[in-house]
Amino acid sequence: MTSEFRDKLYLGGAWVPPESSDRIEVENPYTERVIGHVPAGTAEDVNLAVSAARQAFDGWAGAPAAERGAALDRLHRALSARSGEIARTVGLELGCPLKVAQAVQAGLPLTVLRGYADLAAQPVEEETIGNSLIAREAAGVVGAITPWNYPLHQVVAKVGAALAAGCTVVLKPSELTPLVAYLLIDAADEAGLPAGVLNLVTGTGPVVGAAIASHPDVDMISFTGSTATGRAIAHAAADRIAKVSLELGGKSANVILSDADVVKAVKVGVGNAFLNSGQTCTAWTRMLVHRSHYDEAVALAAKTAAGYPTGDPFDPATRLGPLVSAGQRERVRGFLERAGARPVAGGLDAPVPPTGHFVAPTVLADVDPDSEIAQEEVFGPVLSIIPFDSDDEAVAIANNSRYGLAGAVWGGAEHALAVARRLRTGAVDVNGGPFNPLAPFGGYKQSGVGRELGRYGLEEFQQVKAIQR
Ligand code: NAD
Repeated sequence: MTSEFRDKLYLGGAWVPPESSDRIEVENPYTERVIGHVPAGTAEDVNLAVSAARQAFDGWAGAPAAERGAALDRLHRALSARSGEIARTVGLELGCPLKVAQAVQAGLPLTVLRGYADLAAQPVEEETIGNSLIAREAAGVVGAITPWNYPLHQVVAKVGAALAAGCTVVLKPSELTPLVAYLLIDAADEAGLPAGVLNLVTGTGPVVGAAIASHPDVDMISFTGSTATGRAIAHAAADRIAKVSLELGGKSANVILSDADVVKAVKVGVGNAFLNSGQTCTAWTRMLVHRSHYDEAVALAAKTAAGYPTGDPFDPATRLGPLVSAGQRERVRGFLERAGARPVAGGLDAPVPPTGHFVAPTVLADVDPDSEIAQEEVFGPVLSIIPFDSDDEAVAIANNSRYGLAGAVWGGAEHALAVARRLRTGAVDVNGGPFNPLAPFGGYKQSGVGRELGRYGLEEFQQVKAIQR
């Protein structure tokens, strides 16, 4: 079994000691005990990582597609061999229930990486427009900065796409969940990726993240996290006009129309809102229900929430783990204190396990669409239900958000599709259409800039060149 106590960074294809001996402790959010540590990297470590990535760039970008595809295929195999350990590690450092950790936290990144190994192996298509040959080239050295809620998926969505495009990467995972990123680097080391193609510097956002974002030799920053940090990163990148892609927060609406299958829409909707304890940027946190179904939907949502037992993430009966940190729990409790809506399940006084950063699965009815709880990203197991009387009103409430990441619509097929087209978001699921890891993922408005996953995600890491002949 790999250790949770890591003392090295991965620079230029080798495990090297960090410049400083400072460490970041990793807490298990269920036991509230320290379970590991990683180096607190410095700006000097970032300099070394960027220069390793720069040195590796020409060779990797210029390698034949088949060679990059084969390397990513080896990486995929080495990572797949660690899937049990990935699930266990995310269970430990995030508190994610084991079943979700296996299916989503381990399963999804492996699917995404498989897709990028396949895309990498295909020669980059060139196009002719008039007398111009349109070539696509790797964007350069990429700084990848990721959050804690899907800690391997978010890393792989960036690293897989960037490497497939021929970029080299300096990765900084979240300081709250840095351990699973080490499993990816172990796999990369075993797979024999060329030295410098993928580098790891762990550390805090204000030190390592900021050093990457403002580094003059980083060509592009790919960031997932909060809108506030995304804004700071975009400012840093603007100083040198570096390319930026941002995957930020969300406040998605689940619109249940007059002709919807209400039972299914509510059950799936509650499950979506509570997935990963509500710590999901695409979570459908606002359930908008046609007034004719409102009372039924509220009762059903409350009943469904009761089927989400909290507890030890490693107990198979647990469906809802703790929040990632004491700070996140206090933040979510603060939203509940100020919510001013009608709690029909959970709430501040509902029982939760004695240890762990828990918030009980909570459903609020009669939520004011303009209130804080309906406007701010809560990032906890809290569902707000809002009634509406017409499609126009539903669309207006859904779009009354500074975010625009995802959403859902339930109703007759054509009716639901017509409403889906009116939502100002990067994705909409109609009648429970499943998540597609090859479809573009990203936000409108303050949910971000650019797209991840599949071919669109790869193109984000390319420059386009017109060659006139
Ligand atoms: P965060 O913004 O605090 O941190 C994200 C990453 O940025 C971490 O690695 C952190 O160390 C780093 N960072 C922090 N300050 C920085 C700075 N000044 N310069 C550079 N890097 C810095 O977010 P979080 O708390 O880790 O994650 C939760 C947030 O992320 C939520 O708001 C959620 O909606 C959002 N999120 C969005 C998506 C998406 O795809 N749209 C996915 C997951 C999470």
